[in-house]
Amino acid sequence: MRTPFICGNWKMYKTVSEAMAFLDAAKGLVGGVNDVDIGIGAPATALKSLADGAKGSNIMIGGENCHWENEGAFTGEISPQMLVEAGCKFVIIGHSERRRYFGETNETVNKKVKAALAAGLVVIMCCGETLAEREAGKTDAVVADHVKNGIAGLSMDEMAKVVIAYEPVWAIGTGKTATPEQAQDVHAVIRKLLAGMFGDAVAQTTRIQYGGSVKPENVREIMAKPDVDGALVGGASLKPDSFAKLVNFKA
Ligand code: PEP
Repeated sequence: MRTPFICGNWKMYKTVSEAMAFLDAAKGLVGGVNDVDIGIGAPATALKSLADGAKGSNIMIGGENCHWENEGAFTGEISPQMLVEAGCKFVIIGHSERRRYFGETNETVNKKVKAALAAGLVVIMCCGETLAEREAGKTDAVVADHVKNGIAGLSMDEMAKVVIAYEPVWAIGTGKTATPEQAQDVHAVIRKLLAGMFGDAVAQTTRIQYGGSVKPENVREIMAKPDVDGALVGGASLKPDSFAKLVNFKA
């Protein structure tokens, strides 16, 4: 039985005061939910305040990226250890925006995944094809490449703290959602891949989130698919009401 995991990805939105106002409102709106894991991936500046404010609630706070070293001469970077100390429970790694704008590769993603797990964080590892890749019939191959290389070398125990987020690049922030069937097809491919890499038990317990223009109006039908275990949500996670509706997708 996989517990659904609904997670916001705020990207580069919200100052500390905006983040705290959101948290105050959201805590009241989702406080009664106990059968869904709830996360917010937030900008680094807001993490400590958010994590302190979320203590005792059912909301986990996480980073949107981290480095693979715990300290060093890497100007502008933030380490897994720093995220942990700030109170983070998870980190998003390999988001397509990081791959596209910041040169992230399968190799750096793999190093970051390993470092974050070693620091005790849950990892949300993102994968997904561009529109050109989908149109060229390469979706499964691209996703397999991201997944295989991103989690290469992990142990079965480490996999217990890994969540895979399938995020077709063409659906992120565009308003174009993959149909529930398109999402299910790729999620099934990923689960099969996990079975090949780690065995059936790991494949059956690993959560696979869908991300790409998920909103209150479509979350229910996407979550109804058997291999969709959660959602990673950008735009629709920025307002407490909308976020609460996503979390309450069963209602
Ligand atoms: C994301 O940022 O991971 C995302 C899926 O964004 P959006 O929900 O806005 O498409």
